Amino acid sequence: MKRIIIVLITFVLYFWVNLSAQTFKAGAALRVITPENLIPISGGMGTPEMPTGKKGDLFVRALVLEKGNTRIAIVSVDNLGWPAYLGDRSRQLIKGIPPENILIGATHAHSAPDAYGFTDNDGNTGADLKYLDWCVTQIADAVNEAVTKLEPASLKTAVGEAKGKIAYNYYAEKLYDPRCGIIQAIANSGKNKGNPIATLVNYAIHPEILGTDRKLISPDLCGPLYDRIESKVGGMAIFMNSAQGGMVTADTRRENGKEANDWNECIRIGNLLADEALRIIEPAPGQEDPGLFCASRVIRFPVDSEAMRYVFQNSPVAIKYRTENQDYSTIETRLNLINIGKAQVITIPGEALPNIGYYVKRKMKSDQPFLFGLTNDAYGYMLTKEDFGGFEIYNYISRTSLGEMTGNIYEEEAIKFINESPAPSK
Ligand SMILES: [Zn+2]
Repeated sequence: MKRIIIVLITFVLYFWVNLSAQTFKAGAALRVITPENLIPISGGMGTPEMPTGKKGDLFVRALVLEKGNTRIAIVSVDNLGWPAYLGDRSRQLIKGIPPENILIGATHAHSAPDAYGFTDNDGNTGADLKYLDWCVTQIADAVNEAVTKLEPASLKTAVGEAKGKIAYNYYAEKLYDPRCGIIQAIANSGKNKGNPIATLVNYAIHPEILGTDRKLISPDLCGPLYDRIESKVGGMAIFMNSAQGGMVTADTRRENGKEANDWNECIRIGNLLADEALRIIEPAPGQEDPGLFCASRVIRFPVDSEAMRYVFQNSPVAIKYRTENQDYSTIETRLNLINIGKAQVITIPGEALPNIGYYVKRKMKSDQPFLFGLTNDAYGYMLTKEDFGGFEIYNYISRTSLGEMTGNIYEEEAIKFINESPAPSK
C-alpha cells in the first residue's frame, strides 16, 4: 500500500512539474528613456534638430513570453531606428534569454534622440553617446524585470482592419495596409486573473505628426496609444511598427490642403488606433494552451548606396560599438520568425514598402500574419528592384535604401524562412 502511494505521489509530482514547465507564461515591464536634458532629435538622415521642449515620455517596453524551453522577448524603443550594434549590447546584459530570441524594434518616432549617429560633412554629430549608453542598460533592465514577472497566461490574437482616419500613403493615398494585428496576454491566476498583462499592437504608420519641426522630444502618436490602451484594459501596451515604408504616414490631412501637426493630433490618432485595436481583439477567442516557437537566421545585403555606407563608416555610434572593422560592401542582419498561438510574426530590418508587406504576409502560414518592421536593425527603405530608382517621387526612398536588390533579397529570404519553419496552430 505504502509503495503504491509513493508511486502515485511521484506520478502526480512528475505531471505537475511537467505541466508547469509547459505552461504558457507572459511578463511585461517598461522603462522611461526620456533624456533628462534637451539633446538633438532625428527624423531621418541628415543633421539632427535641437529641441526646445518635451511632450510625453519616451519608453522601452518589453514583453517576455515563455513556454517549455522557449523564451523570447519582444522589445519596442521609442526611436526612429535602433541599430543592432546598440541592441546587441543590451542582449549581452539580459539573463536567461538567448540573444537571438530577443527582438528589438523601433517605433519609428521622428522626434527622439539620434541613435544612428548621422554626421554632417564636417563629421559633426548630434548623437549623445552617454544617453545611448543609458538606453542600452534601460532596455536590458526592462527585459530582465519582465522575466522576473513571468506568470501563467492565456492568449488572444487577432488581425483586422483598423477603420477611420489613421494612416494613408503620402505618395498614393490608398496604397497602404489597413490591417492591425493584436497580441494580448491575459493573466490566468493571482489578483490580476482575467486581465491583460500586455496588449501588443502591430500596425504600419510613420509616427511623424510632430516630426522635428515642432522641436519637441516626443513619442508622437505612440504615447497617447499606450495611455489609451492602459487606461481602458490595464496591463502594458506595446507598439511594433510594420511595413510602413514609402510613405505610409499618419493621416493628419485637413481641408484645403492643411495638416494638423500638433500634440492634439497625436492624441486623436493614438487614441483611435488604440480603440480600433481593442475593438478588433475583444471578440477573439481565448487560446488556453498556446504554442510558442522562435527561430532566427542571419542574412546579408549588398550596400550599393554611397550615402548609407558613409553613415555606417562615419557614425560615432557605429565606430564605438561595432565589434569588427568592416568595409561595408555588404552588411548582415538577423531575421526572426515566431509563432505565438495562432499568430505568425516575421521581422523586417528596415522600412519595407507596403507592397512587399502584402506579399510576405500572403506567403505566411497563418491567417493572422504580423510583420515587425524596423526590428533588430533599421537599414533604411526596402523597395523592390522595379520600384528602386523608378518614379521621381521614389528618389528620396531610393537614396536612403541599401540598394536595388534589398527588397527582393528580403522577400526571398523571408519566404524561404517561412517555408522552412513550422506553421502556428490553427
Ligand atoms: Zn521612415
